[in-house]
Amino acid sequence: MSNIPELFGTMVFNDDAMRSRLPADVYAALRCTIEQGSDLEQWVAVAVAAAMKDWAIEKGATHYTHWFQPLNGFTAEKHDSFIAPAGDGRIIMDFSVKELIKGESDASSFPSGGLRATFEARGYTAWDPTRFAFIKDSTLCIPTLFFAYSGDALDKKTPLLRSIEAVSREALRALHLFGNEDVHKVIPTVGAEQEYFLVDKKYYSRRRDLIYCGRTLFGAPPPKGQQMDDHYYGAIKSRITAFMAELDRELWKLGILAKTEHNEAAPAQHELAPIYTNINTATDHNQLTMETMKKVADRHGLVCLLHEKPFAGVNGSGKHNNWSLSTDTGLNLLDPGKSPQENAQFLLFLAAIIKAVDKHQDLLRLSVASAGNDHRLGAGEAPPAIISCFIGDDLEKVVDAIVRGEIFDGVKKVPMEIGVHGLPSFSKDTTDRNRTSPFAFTGNKFEFRSLGASASIADPNIVLNTIVADELSAFSDILEKADNFSATLNELIRKTFREHNRIIFNGDGYSEQWIAEARLRGLLNIRTTADAIPYYSTEENIDLFARHHVFNREEILSRAEILLETYAKVIHIEAVTMTEMARQEIIPTIVRYADRLASAICHKRQANPNIPCRTENAVLEHLSSLLDSFYEKLTALELAVANVPKDCYDNQRVANAYKDKVVPAMQSLRRVADELESNVDSSLWPYPTYGDLLFGI
Ligand code: ADP
Ligand code: MG
Repeated sequence: MSNIPELFGTMVFNDDAMRSRLPADVYAALRCTIEQGSDLEQWVAVAVAAAMKDWAIEKGATHYTHWFQPLNGFTAEKHDSFIAPAGDGRIIMDFSVKELIKGESDASSFPSGGLRATFEARGYTAWDPTRFAFIKDSTLCIPTLFFAYSGDALDKKTPLLRSIEAVSREALRALHLFGNEDVHKVIPTVGAEQEYFLVDKKYYSRRRDLIYCGRTLFGAPPPKGQQMDDHYYGAIKSRITAFMAELDRELWKLGILAKTEHNEAAPAQHELAPIYTNINTATDHNQLTMETMKKVADRHGLVCLLHEKPFAGVNGSGKHNNWSLSTDTGLNLLDPGKSPQENAQFLLFLAAIIKAVDKHQDLLRLSVASAGNDHRLGAGEAPPAIISCFIGDDLEKVVDAIVRGEIFDGVKKVPMEIGVHGLPSFSKDTTDRNRTSPFAFTGNKFEFRSLGASASIADPNIVLNTIVADELSAFSDILEKADNFSATLNELIRKTFREHNRIIFNGDGYSEQWIAEARLRGLLNIRTTADAIPYYSTEENIDLFARHHVFNREEILSRAEILLETYAKVIHIEAVTMTEMARQEIIPTIVRYADRLASAICHKRQANPNIPCRTENAVLEHLSSLLDSFYEKLTALELAVANVPKDCYDNQRVANAYKDKVVPAMQSLRRVADELESNVDSSLWPYPTYGDLLFGI
């Protein structure tokens, strides 16, 4: 099908489909629920279920599922077919309102961090009518929320929706202070740029590390890596073009606004950027994008790697979370605007965001923490683990001037009164240059760049929405009581910029100097996930989330436990995969090669005892000493794994053991293995090399 507008959204029960299939009163009532959050009445739901079923069956669906996003960070589905006995040995295709609205699942195999008490192992799924249902693999997928018997959230979407409500409510309060009475809702928007690697399936399937861990645990660097910078935006190979073309079509069918596809910095690395949409939709769409990438790759004999660091020494993959706030009247609140009033409003939102980022560095860092992402952050290729805010030179001059009590108009300095003087306009050029900042203002949105490629975007957006809501709320508390609004506003903005200036950094985030300077500024530098997790459950953070009804205490504590458990499990699997590969494949290979060398020496000597065999001897000797060292590191790693506390209820202690003992042992073992790889007959080496993986397509 070449008609893209016709193809777009064909697999989505979207507004068009609803309007054409639902009776007018049902459609109007449903829109009311979607837009204003009014309760969904039974008669409406009954009609929607019937229309949805007919639509799905016409499109070839045979099954339906409640589609949800449990705390493992993936999506979950359990398919039921539409069939129901008709009583006469035949069947009808059936789908009731009950099946649309609520599901029950034995959720005991999803992580709950202890939230599901033993007396109630079931989890419940409930339809989220604000998201469109869609068809994937002949299955009608109904976006749902997932929670426990107690009502506690067991998924990523429930708190996300709560945080959207919080930021909308608080932004609205602030907007009304500026007289924007026509605005009834504020919608956080996100465009999530997704990086990924593609490797040939024939190479992938010969590497246990890729199969079990999604990343290479061994691998000597190839002679050529990314140093020539010839891959970024380079011409796309035809096999990749075919993949991207099919990916686009699959995404378009699902109503996903896939827009830009290009090669990334590393060889075999690519990126897809969609056009932004509201966060709820963007979160589902990013999950579907990742899933579709994997499926489409498979059809092209490729494997899509979404791990944050599939290859050492080569850039890893992240995700850029472009975030803004938009009104239901269509205004972008992070657009500085042209009129003095818009400028003042913009500065208030900017102040709230800068203060939020400074006060909650811990939560932002935590929201992107995973064992995989630990390899990227601060490794001189992705933003550092230190959270800071880039606002660009023009805006920094404005902020500096405000702090000094002046306004900067580019030429002369005049006393500042916000709301009177216009801001300079910010061209994208001056705001988008710094790629090393974790949190960058890019003209009319902030780009949070620390996310790992495989993560759900829900977590960072829950944090962003909540911390910004909190600051806006505190600002409104002050401004609502002000006798002189303009003077109070001026002082509030000035005070906020003055007190939180330290979080603004426009320099090179990859540099050593920044690490030292950030320390002087008192900014946090949390290097690993294990170090980040304790910040989750500080009383301050528990209060913050509770205040905005995003998480209750139990929900936070359970999430911290899950993060710790996941971190430990990931590293455990990697360590065990490494030891298996070492014992079963690498050592036998080296022994075989050594044996060949030894027999070559014997044969030569038999032929002529005077031949010295200097090279063979030297290689053999070097190899033997490397092998001894390898074996020593291997047993050290095995010991480190064995010494991790077992049957221990203190998950933090377990995570620390993996971080402090197991990870360094893995790194030592790898160093020797990579040297062995460079010293062995390449026809014997058991694995496809970095060269094969990175340049083999
Ligand atoms: P680039 O960074 O490649 O120059 P853009 O800055 O135009 O491209 O956009 C990057 C991403 O930011 C895209 O996904 C885009 O849709 C998204 N984006 C643009 N405006 C907004 C906004 N107001 N809110 C959220 N995301 C946005
Ligand atoms: Mg970007």
